[in-house]
Amino acid sequence: MSIRAKSAGDILDAQCTKCRVLTNHTIVALVDGRIVRVKCNTCSSEHNYHAPKEAKVPAIKKSTEPRVRTSTTAATKKDTAPRYHEQWELALSGKDSSPVKEYDMEGKFKKDELVKHTLFGMGIVTMVTGTKMELLFSEGPKLLRCGK
Ligand SMILES: [Zn+2]
Repeated sequence: MSIRAKSAGDILDAQCTKCRVLTNHTIVALVDGRIVRVKCNTCSSEHNYHAPKEAKVPAIKKSTEPRVRTSTTAATKKDTAPRYHEQWELALSGKDSSPVKEYDMEGKFKKDELVKHTLFGMGIVTMVTGTKMELLFSEGPKLLRCGK
């Protein structure tokens, strides 16, 4: 890295941990000439300075707006997916899986019955209301049609 001698009070571009974008920062503290703490000029929050990696520089130029949104969606997905999977595993455990019905939108199903769906795989009926039933698949619950 070719960082010229900086001193406290100098302004530099840094990734703000709060704004999640590259903003102007004021150097707050240095150790052996290395910047360790900076203050964001946009949100005034003080945080540790992370030197941007050389490879990251072109990516930072782009707006980070969509990246933030993607990571939020990913985090939400991560949170719910394993929970459903666990629920699904629990619901299926102890069930006799040999006579499994294939899903058929005209078929008749009842609660706690195992159903095999071509798209979602193995599921278990959690609720039947008229011509609709809720099934729990490994990826989560789905509302599907069924015969009356
Ligand atoms: Zn900030």
